[in-house]
Amino acid sequence: MSQIDAVPSAHSSYTPSVRYITRLEQLQDLPPDQRAELEHVTRLYGFRASDYYLGLVNWQDPCDPIRQLVVPRIDELAGSGRLDASNEAANTIARGMQHKYPDTVVLLCNETCGGFCRYCFRKRLFMNGNTEVSLDQTLALNYIMAHPEITNVLLTGGDPLLLSTSRLGALLGGLRAIPHVQIIRIGTKMPAFNPWRVLEDESLQQTLGRYSTARQRIYIMTHFDHPRELTDPAIECVDRLIRAGVICANQCPLIRGVNDDPAVLSDLYRRLSWIGCPPYYLFQMRPTLGNQPYAVPIVRGWEIFREALRYGSGLARRARFVMSHETGKIEILGVDEKRIYLRYQRAKDPTLRGRFLVYKRNDDAYWLDDLVPADDEHAPRFAPESGLEIHAGPE
Ligand code: SF4
Repeated sequence: MSQIDAVPSAHSSYTPSVRYITRLEQLQDLPPDQRAELEHVTRLYGFRASDYYLGLVNWQDPCDPIRQLVVPRIDELAGSGRLDASNEAANTIARGMQHKYPDTVVLLCNETCGGFCRYCFRKRLFMNGNTEVSLDQTLALNYIMAHPEITNVLLTGGDPLLLSTSRLGALLGGLRAIPHVQIIRIGTKMPAFNPWRVLEDESLQQTLGRYSTARQRIYIMTHFDHPRELTDPAIECVDRLIRAGVICANQCPLIRGVNDDPAVLSDLYRRLSWIGCPPYYLFQMRPTLGNQPYAVPIVRGWEIFREALRYGSGLARRARFVMSHETGKIEILGVDEKRIYLRYQRAKDPTLRGRFLVYKRNDDAYWLDDLVPADDEHAPRFAPESGLEIHAGPE
């Protein structure tokens, strides 16, 4: 295990009036020739980061993980992929509303974030001409009301905590007024990008507390990628959210150059477990256009994940390593010399739910579509959960 950088208590010279930087020329720490070159990248994919977050970068280190996360790289322009790698368009039933699984609706309720993660799988939302996000949730609320099978609503975007508190409160109030909506999740990276969004807005804390009740909690799905994001203000932000009455859990992708080291990932998971924000999902990087520099092959990802889970308490080891594929959420269960073992946690096609999958091992594969089924090798075959028939092939 390699050495972990010390976690900063906070940026030394920072005062909490956060500014958002959107032009590379404002990055005085980048040499002018690099800024000029990277303009080509930002013209396509945009650039945004808070001055607080940029203050966490060690500019002396070109491989600094915080830098990798928000500062563009020229190789984003190379490589292949689709802008909508999980084919979210196929689940979009109205502007800003996706309905993929019967019980769950996803609302894209904001078109910006506290920063633009370079590996974002929804970077298309920040690009010119995007019309996917809806700021008016009336249609969504009516739709959810009319569908009693929807018990689970995920607010995402963009970052919902960048909505005004009154707008977010109106949306949460509207959802809480629908009796069959049990679980509301809010996906946010604001505790990492700008913790003061929560710390300085008591009305936001009260609003979350009002709608996170004893019988129906609100879940804040934080997005910390690296232990150095867990500064004192970020930890205080999570503390304030928990004291407001919400439940916190963390999900993040496995990112080359950021957290693709078992020591880093395990350190992140342990620290998250200490602050009451245990890890939930680790996502395999989707093959989104421009994301190739940040992707780790599935097999290497599994090795990193497995090694990281050797440390910490059970709460630090609760994460699951998954692929958000267009056919469903697929857990990566294991790898041996010949095969990769997967299982549908959720599936768009009901006949695939719980299905165990066995593929030939391919150390260069980044996505399910790169894998070849192991059928012809008499691999273990498992029926869907509903059938529970198990047959282990000859070995
Ligand atoms: S916080 Fe999430 S939605 Fe926003 S840029 Fe990062 S990955 Fe994309």
